[in-house]
Amino acid sequence: CELRAPEQMVTIFDQLTRRQTLARHEMALLLEKSIELGELKLYLQSKHDIDKNIIGYEALARWHSNLLGWVPPSQFIPIAEEFGLVSYVTRTMLEMVCQFLTKNSYIDVPIAINISSRDIADPEFVNDVQRITQAYGISPSSIELELTEYSFADDHNHTMNRLEELGFILSIDDFGTGYSNIARVLECPIKRLKLDRSLLTDINDVKKQHALLLGLITICDNMHISLLAEGVETHSDYAMLCELGIKEFQGYWFSKPCAADKLVMQHKAHQSGSATLS
Ligand code: C2E
Ligand code: MG
Ligand code: MG
Ligand code: MG
Repeated sequence: CELRAPEQMVTIFDQLTRRQTLARHEMALLLEKSIELGELKLYLQSKHDIDKNIIGYEALARWHSNLLGWVPPSQFIPIAEEFGLVSYVTRTMLEMVCQFLTKNSYIDVPIAINISSRDIADPEFVNDVQRITQAYGISPSSIELELTEYSFADDHNHTMNRLEELGFILSIDDFGTGYSNIARVLECPIKRLKLDRSLLTDINDVKKQHALLLGLITICDNMHISLLAEGVETHSDYAMLCELGIKEFQGYWFSKPCAADKLVMQHKAHQSGSATLS
């Protein structure tokens, strides 16, 4: 292969970066158009207690673009963050969840929305969330807000306290993947800690993994914080977590995220199923 002078390499690198930025920018423009056209879809995944009862749902965004096909949130959320669109995504998701709850009033468990660290830093965020839920007549206690540890990097206590005072449920998502100080996290008015799936899968030493989970269970119990395990994929995951003392679960083993309009039947079937069991 031909050797290039460093300045030529820099030019090639610049062109490549520029082209990638352009591609990202084009994707952001497509995303914005799709949201305007109502093409962002609401999917819901159930959360369960130890008896497998549904204790809530998580709202997950799904985007199908005519040009790009299905684009996963792991791809479009970072782009939305980069190009200042994430608050549009969050507000659209909140509106869809409120609409869904208004239409399906028998759903009596909270629905969680994923919040970006950009939302928490936005001075309009609390007012917007309050305005949207009020417009639909939805009680704040029906809405849970999932924040990541990155939201704790800066001081957003004031925003979190206001949301909690208004009655919204706050939880921490993907716990174990960020770099936050646990004492700092527990200072905030948090109702639930969601353990990232990597704490179930990426620890090779089983003894250490169990010690870590047992420690977290004790801390959360003492602080009256619920502890939910994410990414429960198999019966053996569930059995191991139950044995350790985890009481809340979410994952493919219980159910995969499901389009909101299809979920209605699934929820009814589940509730009548558990009604006949009890
Ligand atoms: P998350 O908030 O941690 O959501 C859970 C992710 O894990 C979802 O991926 C879900 O489909 C997936 N999952 C659920 N059960 C299992 C399981 O048993 N095994 C495995 N391997 N995965 C499971 P999804 O929907 O692709 O979303 C990925 C991430 O994108 C979310 O992670 C969240 O951080 C972000 N995201 C999704 N929707 C939104 C949104 O509306 N707003 C924002 N800001 N972020 C969103
Ligand atoms: Mg989440
Ligand atoms: Mg999560
Ligand atoms: Mg996760």
